[in-house]
Amino acid sequence: MILEIIQYGHPTLRKKAANLSAEEIKEPKLAQLVDNMLETMEHAQGIGLAAPQINEPLQLAVIDLGGKDESNTLLELDGKSVQLADIMPLIFINPELKLYPKAKDKMQEGCLSIQGIQAVVNRPTLIEMTYLDLNGQEHSLKCDGLLGRAIQHECDHLEGILFTDRVGSLHKPKVKKQLEALLKPKSFF
Ligand SMILES: [Zn+2]
Repeated sequence: MILEIIQYGHPTLRKKAANLSAEEIKEPKLAQLVDNMLETMEHAQGIGLAAPQINEPLQLAVIDLGGKDESNTLLELDGKSVQLADIMPLIFINPELKLYPKAKDKMQEGCLSIQGIQAVVNRPTLIEMTYLDLNGQEHSLKCDGLLGRAIQHECDHLEGILFTDRVGSLHKPKVKKQLEALLKPKSFF
């Protein structure tokens, strides 16, 4: 089922999402929600979707980059090297992020909840995330490239942070104007 993706200005996008308990993770309705999130993300042609974006303030997100990420040079799941296609789609619950801020890079980002705005964001290149999968099993994923960036973007959503908050001072005034325009009621004419 395709769900409605809430848009910039909706209060849920600014809430800190709640952790899921072991009992909640086991409930069939959570697996159903994840299925719907994957379908919704694919339909919207996105590469990531966090639960708050479908108005569920839970520590849960999905990412699907397909089988290729040319910007990725390191990918380890539970300490072992893996292929991107092996871990897609990535479903993560209650993530904890460790950033390696020594190296950063700039990449253009967009968001399914902020239609029509793209902007360059500077983020750490390498990250490590511990999280639970849909079976409640704990994992650790270390990666860089687009995947590392998408994970940071989705984890931000779980804290009520949007990528536009992280735009550098050079592009900030333009983005601020674009965001204000999104909040204006659409004129009939
Ligand atoms: Zn987003």
